[in-house]
Amino acid sequence: MTASPAPDTKPTPMMAQYLDIKAGYPDALLFYRMGDFYELFFDDAVAAAAALDITLTHRGKHLGEAVPMCGVPFHASESYLQRLIRAGFKVAICEQMEEPSEAKKRGSKAVVRRDVVRLVTAGTLSEDALLEARRNNFLASLSCLGTDKQPDWALAWLDMSTGEFFVCPTSPENLTALLARLAPGELLLPDNAVAAWRLVEDMSDPPSIGKIPAMESKAAIDVLMQEFGSDGVAALKETRSLCVAAGQALAYVRATQFDSTLCLRAPMSQQGDKLMGIDAASLANLEVLRTQSGETQGSLLAAIDLTVTAAGGRAMASRLAAPLAARPAIEARLDAVGFLSAETALRAAVRATLKALPDMARALTRLAMERGGPRDCLALGQGLIGAAQLAEKLATQNALPMALGEVAQALSGEADKVLVLAETLDCALVAQPPLLARDGGFVVDGYDAALDAARGLRDESRRVIAGLQNRYAEETGIKALKIKYNGVLGYHIDVPAAHGDTLMRPPFSDIFIHRQTLANAVRFSTQDLAELAGEISRAGETALALEGQIFERLRASILDLRTEIEMRAEALASLDVAAALAELAEQRNWHRPTLFDDTRFHIEAGRHPVVEAALRADANKPFIANDCALDGAHKASTPRLTLLTGPNMAGKSTFLRQNALLAILAQMGSFVPAARAEIGLVDRVFSRVGAADDLARGRSTFMVEMVETATILQQASPRSLVILDEIGRGTATFDGLSIAWACVEYLHDITGCRTLFATHYHELTALAARLDGLSNASMRVREHEGKLVFLHEVGKGAADRSYGIHVAELAGLPAQVTQRARHVLQQLEENDAATKADSVAALDGLPLFAEQVVAPKKTDALADALASLDPDRLSPREALDWLYRLQALSDKQD
Ligand code: ATP
Repeated sequence: MTASPAPDTKPTPMMAQYLDIKAGYPDALLFYRMGDFYELFFDDAVAAAAALDITLTHRGKHLGEAVPMCGVPFHASESYLQRLIRAGFKVAICEQMEEPSEAKKRGSKAVVRRDVVRLVTAGTLSEDALLEARRNNFLASLSCLGTDKQPDWALAWLDMSTGEFFVCPTSPENLTALLARLAPGELLLPDNAVAAWRLVEDMSDPPSIGKIPAMESKAAIDVLMQEFGSDGVAALKETRSLCVAAGQALAYVRATQFDSTLCLRAPMSQQGDKLMGIDAASLANLEVLRTQSGETQGSLLAAIDLTVTAAGGRAMASRLAAPLAARPAIEARLDAVGFLSAETALRAAVRATLKALPDMARALTRLAMERGGPRDCLALGQGLIGAAQLAEKLATQNALPMALGEVAQALSGEADKVLVLAETLDCALVAQPPLLARDGGFVVDGYDAALDAARGLRDESRRVIAGLQNRYAEETGIKALKIKYNGVLGYHIDVPAAHGDTLMRPPFSDIFIHRQTLANAVRFSTQDLAELAGEISRAGETALALEGQIFERLRASILDLRTEIEMRAEALASLDVAAALAELAEQRNWHRPTLFDDTRFHIEAGRHPVVEAALRADANKPFIANDCALDGAHKASTPRLTLLTGPNMAGKSTFLRQNALLAILAQMGSFVPAARAEIGLVDRVFSRVGAADDLARGRSTFMVEMVETATILQQASPRSLVILDEIGRGTATFDGLSIAWACVEYLHDITGCRTLFATHYHELTALAARLDGLSNASMRVREHEGKLVFLHEVGKGAADRSYGIHVAELAGLPAQVTQRARHVLQQLEENDAATKADSVAALDGLPLFAEQVVAPKKTDALADALASLDPDRLSPREALDWLYRLQALSDKQD
């Protein structure tokens, strides 16, 4: 890296200015505006050139050394910014605050005044190009008050691009769940919050962290009061931790946006207990918002999201990540979906109207922050007209359910004023306005008399120029004479090179003033042309200034109705979600779940929405639907815990996950992929599926598995739904079996929650004899001509065996290996048969959770080796090595 220069020697005036400004932003890249470019110097240039893959050059020397430099063009800066922000950088934008001609007045060596106008960070973006349309981009901020023993934590999160601002109490136990749900672009952590730092850094997909000094609650309240008045703080009920979290977030946004007006709503306090809890690991395991590899494609969200607007997409994602836990609110959402799924024509009309509507929330924010343009104004006008049409459509319906009634109401608040605004925007703006007001040409002719006059003058002058061209061509006899315009010469007369001399000789040389000779053309100006050009330019400037004023007036009238626009944007997003879920239910034959306050979980013919869609898309294969019956109260012989056995690839994980996803879908207010679903409200869903090494953070598969299992056992309540897949597989057989055994007993006897537990430990199935709320189920398979056929059906009773070697065969393990494996298995089973009955009986007799020391079992190297072997992950070569190793161990034991 290139060292920044020592401060004790004298830099050039420009470099002095650069270094002075840069000193204020040591941890950001400084985009230093020079004409049409943002330039970066020293270490910033080296880092940015590497991240952007652009050329690193040098500009002059500083203190005897060449200064590394790279630059990005101002007009294309957004895409470069986007890449830098994604790569984890912050960028300070330093603009020229005066025209170079102004600076010159202070002396020929005076440097143009520059200043940082904005700090761009991952959590504080507002430009469309920097944001994903269908995802919120949250800035989150944590406050950690209280003590280690009695922590009083709160998390605030805001999306600067939409104005949403929330805050809720949190705790060391549920912070990571909240963060996983929100996936903030940036998280502000107070530098002294050691415990929180540890928790966040330990997340599998931690957000980018900004370190801030912890804020005093008085300062937090002050900053909130300044922005939102006393009402804004009242909503936080003067809870210190809530105020501090919200105040920190707001102060940070203020510090990054300098003088820009913000477009944030006052923070709303969100109650965690009204939501279903899904911890970070379960959200990831169940692939609710993203797949395990981090992609949206293949997630539950991608499978169900049929919304037609970006705001609808954002609302769908946030509902799915935070399903509800209170029945009336869920029923209200389900009523809306039910209504729209029955009203086919209305749904189609609503979706068609919605599809054409713009992202009003983001357009409004850009306008409020003075980053918007005529295109945003037009978009808002169209959005308001669309909202009025939808309000009308809903108003004609009888027996509108409550949630849709609220939408209709929000869409028609202050209807007269909004209509006037929408009409004004509609008649003021051209159909395809430019992005920026400074480009002009966006106000329609006839809207403003003064503007029409200025434009008339400009256009008239243009006509005069055309006349002048004809006159000159006639007078000189040069037919090819043209009056042209370019950025350097402005308006000029252009003749082919052969005619240049004619105009430079009398009599024409008195009128035509030579300006430029090119290979093919010679260029001239005249007194008349210069005067006309002046008139055109003045008229153009006047027109542009008038358009600027009109734009400001339109912007102001939009902001006057900010609240009404925000309400409409929000209502349109919920309408989009309800219509999309109704469409989904109709297209895929989903049904309305029935919710109860008890602990039943009865699913008839349930399906996995993602696997079903994948099967359909890949091979048009049918998905086999399966029932599931659980009851925490273990009523009428319905088990509270089902132990699921069956071969690999038979569909155990799919069945487990589909039931967890059904609960999530039902409680977010969606219909579900099942013929019938009766669900007693679930307070939390836990999922421990599959094994994933987390070597980057130094945790083995088994450690990760145990950490997640511990969380479940500590936090699950009798109202929870727990799915556990293959607990205890990452260690030696008997350790694993014992852990799985004890977990089953704990969940059944102590937690008492609804549980689905898949396992390859067939020994566990013996527990059914002793635990009356436990039942065995298995994935059905058929052997056909020595080959295994998966039926993907869940049947009663335990599987008779594992069929691991069959699956290995299917996977293409060489016949030599599978034959040898069969032989080894036979021997192992024969040896085991003698002791098996005794050992299981012995386990069964163990007093539950008594402090008992069990004598360590004689180690069985062969069994341990076999247990640690995962055939699915072996290459043929490794499998062969393993066989030799197993044979050697077996010889040793003989
Ligand atoms: P393992 O024990 O190896 O983890 P598993 O028993 O958990 O295997 P899954 O991963 O659930 O098996 O399923 C394997 C594949 O079987 C799925 O990817 C899917 O293609 C198919 N499958 C699972 N369930 C069904 C079903 N109900 N209908 C049709 N196909 C299914």
